[in-house]
Amino acid sequence: MAILSRPLLGHCFPKATSTTNHRKPTPRLLLPPQVALDNPPPSLQRPHPDDPSLHSTWSHRAWVALGSTSVLLSLSKSTIASLQSHTLLEPALAAYIGYLIADLASGVYHWAIDNYGSSNTPIVGDQIQAFQGHHKWPWTITKRQFSNNLHALARSVFFTMLPFDLLPNANPAFHAFAGACAGCIMMSQQFHAWAHGTKSRLPRMVVALQEMGVLVATEEHGRHHRPPYNNNYCIVSGAWNGVLDESRVFEMLEMVLFMRFGVRPRSWSEPNEEWAEDEV
Ligand SMILES: [Zn+2]
Ligand SMILES: [Zn+2]
Repeated sequence: MAILSRPLLGHCFPKATSTTNHRKPTPRLLLPPQVALDNPPPSLQRPHPDDPSLHSTWSHRAWVALGSTSVLLSLSKSTIASLQSHTLLEPALAAYIGYLIADLASGVYHWAIDNYGSSNTPIVGDQIQAFQGHHKWPWTITKRQFSNNLHALARSVFFTMLPFDLLPNANPAFHAFAGACAGCIMMSQQFHAWAHGTKSRLPRMVVALQEMGVLVATEEHGRHHRPPYNNNYCIVSGAWNGVLDESRVFEMLEMVLFMRFGVRPRSWSEPNEEWAEDEV
């Protein structure tokens, strides 16, 4: 069982961001010398690059097809209604807001499953285990096949979008927002995989979008995989990472959850074998 012995707030300082030097010292609340993790992560087997668990199945492909269809249906409804009503600016703005909200949602979700729950957690247990494995062997995400990487999010997107797709009246701005947001959330794991890729092997368009800040960049996401392992959670564009990390929103939420429920996030533990990157 993993044993922790670090101060409650001390784990957060210094952070691996360029803003560290501008921060004022914050009082530290000390914990008892040793606190045991209530739910230690399961022991994960080191995967092989050709491990069948990284391959797509027909079930994975079916969920990605359904999720993509639900997103494209919403965007099509928006486009048709926009052209009929000659209102292009509102839907375009709504789609951009949807893209921004998707980045924020990816950060909140990533923070939650990185830090709480276990493989036994209902519904998201597999994703929690996969993200823990990702921290230990980040390279596995570049070996995962497309549908294997996206199917869990695609399934959630399909069931969320289905009621909206069935709405009889198409509001172009609403469907632009919903389609863009859901599409970016579904694709966030692909954007994440590209952030782990070698630039020379990525499509030139992807590298260009990363350098423009449209997609999360390799350097930015790389900081998430280095100590103290508690920042840069957003994986669509990374636009929210600076705001969230400088305002310490997640650290405050972790404090509230610990003081209210006594639950410690995994990022408070020392960079132990569950977090440290292993070699390929
Ligand atoms: Zn993570
Ligand atoms: Zn990663």
